Amino acid sequence: AKAMGHGSLRFFSPEMSRRAKERLALEADLRGALERGEFSLSYQPQVDLRSSELVGLEALIRWTHPVRGNVPPSVFIPLAEECGLIVELGDWILQTACRQIRRWTDAGLAPRHTAVNISAVQLSRGRLLDSVTSTLEKTGVAPEQLELEITESFVMLERELSFQSLADLRALGVSLSIDDFGTGYSSLSYLQQLKVHKLKIDMSFVRDMMKNSSNAGIVKAVIALGKSLGLEVIAEGVEDSDQAHYLRDLGCDVMQGYLVSKPLPDDEISKFLADFSKRKPI
Ligand code: C2E
Ligand code: CA
Ligand code: CA
Ligand code: CA
Repeated sequence: AKAMGHGSLRFFSPEMSRRAKERLALEADLRGALERGEFSLSYQPQVDLRSSELVGLEALIRWTHPVRGNVPPSVFIPLAEECGLIVELGDWILQTACRQIRRWTDAGLAPRHTAVNISAVQLSRGRLLDSVTSTLEKTGVAPEQLELEITESFVMLERELSFQSLADLRALGVSLSIDDFGTGYSSLSYLQQLKVHKLKIDMSFVRDMMKNSSNAGIVKAVIALGKSLGLEVIAEGVEDSDQAHYLRDLGCDVMQGYLVSKPLPDDEISKFLADFSKRKPI
């Protein structure tokens, strides 16, 4: 009883209630943010480690709050997932990205693919296939131009459901990438059955791999695994050329990170796409 007393005291501490209020306020703002047009997408380049060719982009959402300024997605995406808003928001992300892909295609600037992050909640609603199909139709984007990034943890949690949804999306011609690979707990046979196209090495392993031999071990293992399953391997969070060369020597295919570019808003990334061919190789 004493322990519980302590627990409830802590629960009602001013700090906790301040955080709870803050959270509620943010959630309330989040509900209206879509209508008020406060969201936008930025895009980050993905570059082939051998040819230095730009092969793709990843779309990343940005929320410019009228008072708080830029609220990071690591803060509001989990909130949107908990209150169910992620379904509507996810549809907006998909539509916005596909409209942009269409504009790039018309301008002759489209990269091979553009990746969109998909929340586990979107996948579990079973609506994702419909949403992707109708968005591709409406925008006239080819399925091959779209890639979906899903996280490993979800795929491993809801096997039956995600297996079917992913098989349907794959059949449509959309490519699939497992995000944050190495942070979850995958079964290797399951990974093989899923028939995803890419593994994306989490940046927490890339960050310290030059100094930390256990992180380097994970990076090597993921690259070897990807190769043996015939998957493309992409490393995220690549910030310097030592990391890029190291990854290339290990056989990693593609890199993404500040070394090439930060995520850029659509006008700037369009300029980047136009200029990229004139760049020197890394
Ligand atoms: P993520 O999908 O793993 O995205 C990678 C994050 O790393 C992005 O943060 C990106 O800006 C950042 N990053 C890229 N290169 C570097 C680098 O070289 N160094 C460092 N330190 N960071 C780098 P961001 O944009 O803040 O997104 C954070 C997370 O929020 C994403 O992680 C993803 O889980 C989620 N998220 C972002 N946009 C969306 C979206 O449109 N839909 C969904 N469902 N989730 C999203
Ligand atoms: Ca991602
Ligand atoms: Ca990631
Ligand atoms: Ca991540």
